[in-house]
Amino acid sequence: MIYFISDLHLEEDRPDITGAFLYFMDWVESKADTLYILGDFFESWIGDDEDTVLQVLIKQRLKKFTASGKKLYFMHGNRDFLVGQLFSEQTGAQLLEDPCVVNLNGVDTLLMHGDSLCTADIGYMKFRATIRNPSFLEPFLKRPIEERKITAQQLRAMSQANNQSKDMEIMDVTPEEIPKVLAQHDVDTLIHGHTHRPAVHNLTVNDQKAQRIVLGDWDKEIWYLEIDQAGKQHLKTMPFPVDPTS
Ligand code: MN
Repeated sequence: MIYFISDLHLEEDRPDITGAFLYFMDWVESKADTLYILGDFFESWIGDDEDTVLQVLIKQRLKKFTASGKKLYFMHGNRDFLVGQLFSEQTGAQLLEDPCVVNLNGVDTLLMHGDSLCTADIGYMKFRATIRNPSFLEPFLKRPIEERKITAQQLRAMSQANNQSKDMEIMDVTPEEIPKVLAQHDVDTLIHGHTHRPAVHNLTVNDQKAQRIVLGDWDKEIWYLEIDQAGKQHLKTMPFPVDPTS
């Protein structure tokens, strides 16, 4: 079977999420042929050379998954778009472009992280274009890790301050974008994360049935999407494992 996860936001300050991820990997390993990670897997990523204890642990777990012959695909989110080639080599994950179309057990499906669909948030769209521009990124990646960390923290603080004054609707996907991207890519199924609003939306686009599946974030529970052999999608949750040390 094929599995999707996104928006774990793994970070040192949330060992419960790391624990849940390791628990999920042990659970999913016997069932999955393929695992897709659709972005914001890490809360922050300032370059493949950082190599914190948490990053090493997570990379080793992913490597164990791919070493057994299973496929792993990784799409960038807005928080971890600097995950690069070294990460890919160290984990066996294949990096995916955002957007991209894949065939999931017979169903052509558009995959996105989802932030590029939030077009009503003009401030964010500008910010996104700026930080992904090589004229910002190339010098950024050449700077020492400690300096990059400070810049990343500053950018995050700025974005949090901006988000507080925004309507909740602005931070969701713009509904009009959905039929557009489905038509552009000639598909009727879209899977994305980012908004932390897990749901299966059944839509009608040009008199055709269409589907938008939104993956869930891992703040309070495990969220995953399972695609069975017939190509049918099941969006599910599991509670975090009980921490024996607490
Ligand atoms: Mn995101």
